[in-house]
Amino acid sequence: MIASYSDLKNKVILVTGAARGIGKSISLALAAQGAHVVFNYRGDDAKAMALKEELERAGGKASGLRFDVTDHEAMTKALDEFTKTVAPISGLVNNAGISKDTLLLRLKPEEISQIIDTNLKGAMLVTQALSRNFLKAENVSIVNMSSIVGLMGNASQAAYAASKAGLIGFSKSVAKELATRNVRCNVVCPGFIQTEMTDALQDKAKDEYIKSIPLNRFGSTDEVAQLTCFLLSNASSYLTGEVIKIDGGLYI
Ligand code: NDP
Repeated sequence: MIASYSDLKNKVILVTGAARGIGKSISLALAAQGAHVVFNYRGDDAKAMALKEELERAGGKASGLRFDVTDHEAMTKALDEFTKTVAPISGLVNNAGISKDTLLLRLKPEEISQIIDTNLKGAMLVTQALSRNFLKAENVSIVNMSSIVGLMGNASQAAYAASKAGLIGFSKSVAKELATRNVRCNVVCPGFIQTEMTDALQDKAKDEYIKSIPLNRFGSTDEVAQLTCFLLSNASSYLTGEVIKIDGGLYI
């Protein structure tokens, strides 16, 4: 059963990394709630146009914003233009992320920078760019997409885990800093979710991971999207600074 959150109707929400995977499912779930989804992408404009149509068919309003979260100038320009000429943004999902699975010994300095710049610094700078906007808006909710490995650590994911753990410290700080202005900030920590990111795992590794998940399967992007909708809505109005695992029991 899909919950319905009437306050999400017409709420203007930015989702970064929305072209595929979890970001796309979140965008579709928000569109189905009638939200105005501002979907960020960095690639193909034709694909973005198709996504806009898909989101509108799902029941929402949709605007595409093309920028790379590691390109500060392009990102602030796109957000400034949108908020000045279209609408203020009052919801944010920092979802864009990359991983590079390799042993610490083999990680190149530039790979570490790329992971931290995308997963942690990107989310920090997008939040910062919108924070003045947030101070003037009502019922702002920020959701930061971390990972279970930000809590547990994982062999071959040292930089990725560090970026995701950093996101938790950042989110708790934002929650404290902006609470008096009615801006909430929570963290979602997915376990293994079926997307292109996990499709890259070898079958043997996937089978091993599934054995360690009490619910005995990977999660779906829709399941993460439903939790995110709840956190963006007023149904979670007394939750801030919270870190919510969605991992089929992996962390127990
Ligand atoms: P995908 O690899 O399927 O999608 C990642 C998205 O982020 C893509 O749309 C990609 O854009 C975008 N992106 C990457 N770098 C940038 C950038 N610099 N600027 C703008 N957009 C960017 O990943 P998932 O959907 O699986 O993951 C989404 C989030 O959830 C990530 O933060 C990930 O770390 C987190 N997560 C995922 C888990 C999983 O099991 N799948 C588990 C735990 C956390 P493009 O299409 O252009 O490449």
